[in-house]
Amino acid sequence: MFYHRKELFYPVNVGTPDPQFGQFLLEQFGGATGELTAALQYWVQSFHVENPALRDMLQDIALEEFNHLEMVGKLITQHTAKLDQTKVYEAPLFKMKGIGPHFVDSQGSAWTATYINEGGNVVRDLRANIAAEGGARQTYEALLKCTKDKGTIDALTHLLTREITHTNMFMKALDAIGKLDDPMFGNVKPDDTVDVVFNLSQGEEGRGPWNEAPFDYIENPQPKGKIPASPANPDDEKIHLAAE
Ligand code: MN
Ligand code: MN
Repeated sequence: MFYHRKELFYPVNVGTPDPQFGQFLLEQFGGATGELTAALQYWVQSFHVENPALRDMLQDIALEEFNHLEMVGKLITQHTAKLDQTKVYEAPLFKMKGIGPHFVDSQGSAWTATYINEGGNVVRDLRANIAAEGGARQTYEALLKCTKDKGTIDALTHLLTREITHTNMFMKALDAIGKLDDPMFGNVKPDDTVDVVFNLSQGEEGRGPWNEAPFDYIENPQPKGKIPASPANPDDEKIHLAAE
């Protein structure tokens, strides 16, 4: 069951409308790192998670992301509402489509479900979510660099803060199931290269815990396979060079 309350989750009060900034904000409405992506990603993941507590966490965060989507939408509406009083060349997207928001990103590309990262395993999903939260946080920081409006800064700082909280929740969830520092999950037993690391970018070698013991560091990796046979292609040119 869904219901909607008309009060905003957190206040949105734009002081000086800026349609160009409104266009930037679309990145968090209909963009890859945006709130629609996050809300739908966590919501759909919750359908295939067996554990009730983890499913509840995903649904709580999904619903908070819908609140964020509403806040970003209101920010865009307020930034574009007085479009007729501004230089239209600053925001051609709203000149064509009218007052926002719209489900496109800051460059006008339509939102797509390919932005959503989910699959049938909770560890896979929680790890994808940490990356998603990182992307959202980074976009909010980029947006904060582009505005001096006090009300906008307040709302965006709250939204950025919440993505840090969500990251923390996803990390705690992985830790609780022993998968924050254990890369292995699923049912397929890895082969005997699982602790082997290869030095494939040679020159100015960097060493650290990712390629030191207990990893087996192969300084000068050699191919295990042979040169593959030439393809048989009846449509190709039949070339015989003098040297052959
Ligand atoms: Mn959010
Ligand atoms: Mn989030």
